[in-house]
Amino acid sequence: RVKKKWAATLPRITSTKLALQNFDVNYGTQFGERWPSIRVSLLSEQKYGALINNFSSAQELMKGLELQGARDFVYEARARTWSPGSVGGKPQGDEELVWSSSLAAGQSGSEVPLSGQVGEGVEMAAATEPPSLSPNIKCFTFPKGDVTGFSPARLDGSGLLGYYLLDAASVLPVLAMDVQPGHTVLDLCAAPGGKTLALIQTQACWRLAANDSSVSRTGGSRRILQSYIPREHSTEDRVRITSFDGRRWGELESNTFDRVLVDVPCTTDRHSLLEEENNIFTRSRSKERQTLPLLQSQLLLAGIKAALPGGVVLYSTCTLSQLQNECVVERAVQVAHEELGVTVHIQDLSALTQLFRDTFNFAQGMRLGELVLPHLTSNFGPTYFCKLRRVN
Ligand code: SAM
Repeated sequence: RVKKKWAATLPRITSTKLALQNFDVNYGTQFGERWPSIRVSLLSEQKYGALINNFSSAQELMKGLELQGARDFVYEARARTWSPGSVGGKPQGDEELVWSSSLAAGQSGSEVPLSGQVGEGVEMAAATEPPSLSPNIKCFTFPKGDVTGFSPARLDGSGLLGYYLLDAASVLPVLAMDVQPGHTVLDLCAAPGGKTLALIQTQACWRLAANDSSVSRTGGSRRILQSYIPREHSTEDRVRITSFDGRRWGELESNTFDRVLVDVPCTTDRHSLLEEENNIFTRSRSKERQTLPLLQSQLLLAGIKAALPGGVVLYSTCTLSQLQNECVVERAVQVAHEELGVTVHIQDLSALTQLFRDTFNFAQGMRLGELVLPHLTSNFGPTYFCKLRRVN
């Protein structure tokens, strides 16, 4: 009798299919009737933003983008925060927009922790003022429903690229960090360097440490900086690129940074649905996938340790998963409190997201942090970001 060789001959399920099955189960439960619309958006072409390189000859380039119908959504949001007499002055050539009471709705007058609204031990602090948005971050997108793509960036006369294409929602965590002139900044998981580039564009970082445990990916960050930043702005004393395991950073350099970005490895939902290469749903990576929340909370804890008391830590991912988003934040805040005696307050970002709701589709009713949901008319994200302030 001939035995059939099922296991050897049947095609194995691809990693992208496995990812979709996993998301259908988990996100079907998490998002209920909203899941089919998010699902179709995730499987459709993603939209990009063009982050303008201030070190290149950007004026002509920006005019060209405007003529094509793209607009700087950060500039437009900033214009909404302008009110007569405010510091920073009126944006040029635009309608005068006032910080209105409807935008400010939902804000209480102080940074008093709101008790009993979130998980035990996790305190929320409400925003007090309109968010300040870096005047140097400029990012163009095509309007909602317009799926025009950007052409590849070109070199200017001095050999620098004019813009960097990225998921426009990636700019939000950097804006939420509110880097101020003179700040020391740590980007704990920095490669391939999109957010590092946005941080440098603020022109506010006095010193910036860009770390990533992967040596090869760190090489990619180095190449990006070479293509965008003049050498005198990225000297070793200003921009330090390292390849440490970020979990150790809290021991290497604790209580040091005004701002820390913890943009962790995650299930990178879009990539996992569309690309077989380097897919975390490959069977051989199932252990790595299952332990992601642990790694993420360890990295966030290291970021909290690295921050100065009073400093800001920004946690971000590109997954929809609650287990990798809110649960990680909750866990790290709890461990910081119980094991390190460090109190961390989570900041209310609703005033910030109000300013960007024309461009992005934000999830409603998030307990902690904010989440950009992919939508067919504005197919950015997923991007989760949560702002924490280290108190002591
Ligand atoms: N911030 C980057 C950007 O905007 O271009 C993207 C970061 S990506 C989501 C996550 C990064 O974390 C990967 O480059 C990965 O190599 C890095 N990583 C993974 N484990 C790490 C660890 N233990 N310490 C530091 N970096 C780590």
